[in-house]
Parts: sequence; structure tokens; C-alpha cells
Amino acid sequence: IGDDVLMVSGSDCFGTPITVEADKEGKAPEEVANSYHEKDVHLFKDILDLSYDLYTKTLTDQHIKVTQDFFVKLLENGYIFVDKSSQYFSPTEKRFLPDRYVIGKCPNCGFADARSDQCDSCGKVLNQGELINPVSTISKEPVELKETQHYFIDWPKLQPKIVQYVKTHSSGWKDWVRAETLGWLNEGLKPRAITRDIDWGVPIPKDRIPENMLINDIDTKRIYVWFDAVIGYYSASLLWAQETGGDWKSFWYNKDAYHYYFMGKDNLMFHTIFWPGQLMGFDDQLHLPDLPSINMFFHLEGEKFSKSRGVTIEIKDLVEKYGNDRVRFYITLVMPETRDSSFSWSDFKEKINGVLVANIGNFIHRALSVGYNNGFNVSADKIFPEVLAEVKSSFSTARNYLEKCEFRNYLEVILKLAGFGNKLCDEEKIWELAKKDTTRFGAVMTNLYFIIGSLGYLFAPLMPEA
Ligand SMILES: [Zn+2]
Repeated sequence: IGDDVLMVSGSDCFGTPITVEADKEGKAPEEVANSYHEKDVHLFKDILDLSYDLYTKTLTDQHIKVTQDFFVKLLENGYIFVDKSSQYFSPTEKRFLPDRYVIGKCPNCGFADARSDQCDSCGKVLNQGELINPVSTISKEPVELKETQHYFIDWPKLQPKIVQYVKTHSSGWKDWVRAETLGWLNEGLKPRAITRDIDWGVPIPKDRIPENMLINDIDTKRIYVWFDAVIGYYSASLLWAQETGGDWKSFWYNKDAYHYYFMGKDNLMFHTIFWPGQLMGFDDQLHLPDLPSINMFFHLEGEKFSKSRGVTIEIKDLVEKYGNDRVRFYITLVMPETRDSSFSWSDFKEKINGVLVANIGNFIHRALSVGYNNGFNVSADKIFPEVLAEVKSSFSTARNYLEKCEFRNYLEVILKLAGFGNKLCDEEKIWELAKKDTTRFGAVMTNLYFIIGSLGYLFAPLMPEA
């Protein structure tokens, strides 16, 4: 639609999911992270045909340096302080165990296998010490809290800026996204540790920290993944500019730019509260997130996806068997935009046959085949006023939905326009008209072709192969 777009993303390489797997397989974390990255690059580019301006990873020197810049700047600006914190420590393993290495009962919803940093069931972000009956995932033995010195981000100090940001930016957000964000803010933000006792993460830039702000055992601590991962959007833009000569500032220091972020609901707080806060604490001239396009959870036949429990579909297999367009069509149709939804094999079949084929496919096929078999002259000045009005309103409604990332509604517009075309075929009885009144037939067919062409444009972003 004529806008200048920069689309960047990347693989999140730090954090305990990587080290847990590396431990299990006896590999280096870097090797595990790189192998996931390569698989994802292949999947996105070669299988799903997604076109990023840059799809990078958080292991690059660029990202590590930019993360350290954020750290130093937030420290200088008074948003990072040093404090002792209690971290889980395993007496059996004689070491600190971050996040995914510790599980227990969620204090918020009672889920039994909640991670110590966030509950996978209700999504609540947890602080160390909140979990009930915490145990090590390695030894299954109970863990205890032990004091250790860390850097903390001062969320209470940033809270007024964040509240102001949400007030001025959230009018276009989905209602539940705004409500959940305001819920966290009303509860009041607490300081949160941004370093951990681990060896896999962005190194703390100790040479750039004033002496009175250095913490104990700084060499065995790292900046933690929740702090660095979101910085990836910004560092990727800088890397893109470096590699292509592109003008990153026209995206980040431009009040007319519009920033979209795409994620699942477990990442909500990191994008509607933490990331805007980090940006404002780093440089208050930077463009803040405009629209977080957040989905709820997508399940498989009503069950949570889980490789270990076999509740899984390989996207690669799905796409290779049924084609990208059918998969994209179905997933858009049932996308969990406002509530959790499910991929269901029987529903997949039903929607492809009953909606894509029977509604849209049927309309296009019969109009084209009747036109082809009988022949007619296209004349652009014969577009009926009601057809023109329907197409015009479809385009303007569709554009509005697309800009708000309401993809299900976008698809509804397409289905409605195809339905309108089907109705015109029926009302005019085109297969009889071809024999009875060639002038009228030519006019009707011109209109039907006009609708088909319009559907083609509307379908392009949704089903690019069609
Ligand atoms: Zn929970």
C-alpha cells in the first residue's frame, strides 16, 4: 500500500531454554542456538517464503554491543541500581539455578509446573521466591533462596513514563491487550533483576561501569535474556543499516513512522511495558511501539502444543503437503486474536473444502469458465454502480483491518466480496444469459471479472502464491 517498510526479526539465542537443552545433549549453548537459528532461517525463507529485510540472531557482536550500550545508558540515567537479591540455589548441585532450571506451583493460578520466572499456564511473570515448593529440574531436589548481588532495573521510577506511554498509544490496541497492560500497571511495577548467576548471556560491560557500581563476582554473571531479547529489534535495524546502507534513523527517529510488533500473549508484558520503558530510559527521542499485534494461544485439537507429549505438527510437513496458501488461509480464519483457538485436522479439511473451495474457488471457477466457454467483450465503462460501491467499500474496510492487524476481519471482507460475486452469478443466471442476451452477458461478465481482479489484490498479502 505504498509505505516504506523495514521488517526485522531474529533468533533469541540466550536464556535457559538453550542451556537446558545444551546440558541435555552435551553440547555448547552456542552450538544449540546456532542450529535453531539455521533451522528457523530455512523454515522462514525456503518453506514459508517470508521476506524479512533482515532476520538475524542475538549472538552477533552488534547486538551484544548495543545491549551493553542500553545497560550503560540506563545505569547513567539512574534507572539501574545494585541490590542484593535472593536467587534459587541448589545445595545438591552447589550452584545458582535461574528460571527454567527451577519449577514449582504457580502462586497465581496453581499450575504445578510453573517456571520460576513465568507461569506457562496463566502467563504471570514471577519474581524469585514467589514459586511454591520450588525444585531443581536437573536433580528434582528442593532449592533454597540465597543472597547474591545483582543489577536491577528501577521499574517504579520508570512507571510514570510507561503509564503516560500507554495512555497516549493504546487506543488502537485490542481491548484485552490494553486491559491486561493496565492491570499490571495498576498492580504497580517492582524492580526486576537484569543479571543472573549464569555464564550464557551478554557479558556485563564492567569496564564501562563506575567503580562504586560494580557488583561481586561480576565475571560469573551475565545480563539476562529478558533484558537483551527485545533490544534485538533495535540492534537488528542498526545491523540492517550497516549491511545495506539503509537509513535506520528514518524508522527510529521519525514521529510519522508506525511500529508494529508481532508476538504471542506470553510476551505481552515485555512489549507493552518493559520494552517501551527500556527505550524511554535509553533515549527519549526514540520512536515507541505503536501496535503490539498479540495473539492468544494456538493449540492443537484443544491441547497445548508439546513436542515431548507428541502434541505437535511439523510446519514444514504441513506446508509441503498442503501448500502455504491453504495453511495460511486456515490459520488466518481461526487465528487466536481475541481468545485461544485450535488447529483441528477435521476443521482444517472442512474450512478448506467448505469455505476456500466452495465459496471463493467456486465463484472464481464458474465465472471464469462460463466467460471462457462463451466469449465476451470486456468493457470497463460497464461497471455497475452497486458493484463499484461494494468493491470500493471492501478495499477501504480491508485496509483498515490490515492496518490494525485484525486479520480474521480482513479475511471476512474477502469472503463477503466473493459471496457478493456468487450472488451476482446466481441472480443473473450467467449460464443462461450467455445464450439469451449477449450484450447483457458481456456487461455482467465484465463486472464479475472486475470482482475477481479485486479479490486477487485483496488475496495477495494473505495467499501470495494464489
Ligand atoms: Zn499461573
